[in-house]
Amino acid sequence: MSGALPALFLSHGAPTLPLEDIPASRFLKALGGELTRPRAVLMVSAHWETPTPTLGGAAMPKTIHDFYGFPDALYAMKYPAPGDPDLAACVADILREAGFEARVHPRRGFDHGAWNPLMLVYPDADIPVVQLSIQTALGPAHHLALGKALAPLRRDGVLIVASGNSTHNLGDPRRAPTHVEPPGDVRAFDEWLIEAVSEGRIDDLLDYRARAPAGAHHHPTEDHILPLFVAMGAASNGATAPGRLIHQSYCLAILAMSAFAFDGETADL
Ligand code: ZN
Repeated sequence: MSGALPALFLSHGAPTLPLEDIPASRFLKALGGELTRPRAVLMVSAHWETPTPTLGGAAMPKTIHDFYGFPDALYAMKYPAPGDPDLAACVADILREAGFEARVHPRRGFDHGAWNPLMLVYPDADIPVVQLSIQTALGPAHHLALGKALAPLRRDGVLIVASGNSTHNLGDPRRAPTHVEPPGDVRAFDEWLIEAVSEGRIDDLLDYRARAPAGAHHHPTEDHILPLFVAMGAASNGATAPGRLIHQSYCLAILAMSAFAFDGETADL
């Protein structure tokens, strides 16, 4: 398995992440230097939802400021990494061979679920990035299968980065400044997720809404947890590959910011 890159799941928190000095932003700033440099990043962000898997195929993707009411400094930020139209076409082919109806969008830019963490991990913006959309209506099993199809890319110098959040209920009235301790049930969900991922309990994870503490409450919509299943699927054969916790902190009290690396063997694929 020598030379295979991990697949990562990162929690991206609030859009202000690149402006903040909090544990999650410090973790992301250190992460790039700890990874083998990839030839490209395949970014699966919670903030691009389409009916079928779609690849961003632009040569120079624009930075999309897909949030409202934040500081001007955030709207001035750009992430000028190049795209990789050839890789986008290649990934679309891989997904079609696996039975997905994959498409390429020729103009799609980077949403903040992509550029917020990438700006911290690879600030030089010199590694090509291709985005892949999620299909929220199709649920966890679909995304696990997507990841499984993508697993061979890990041996081809492509870093698969899935960007969402360990918990994501922005309507939770207990939202508070980041230094405030998270409510017990936020921590309980996060701890359940960490244990299930670390033990490779795929069946429990696929049914997290029923089996995790307050599972549906912490993900009223599934968009921010579905990227985790893509990373998990890319771990190996998608069956029982465990992930490694690489970061744990909390943001705005209600957002768990856990991150995982999936380093499973890919030789059997
Ligand atoms: Zn988000």
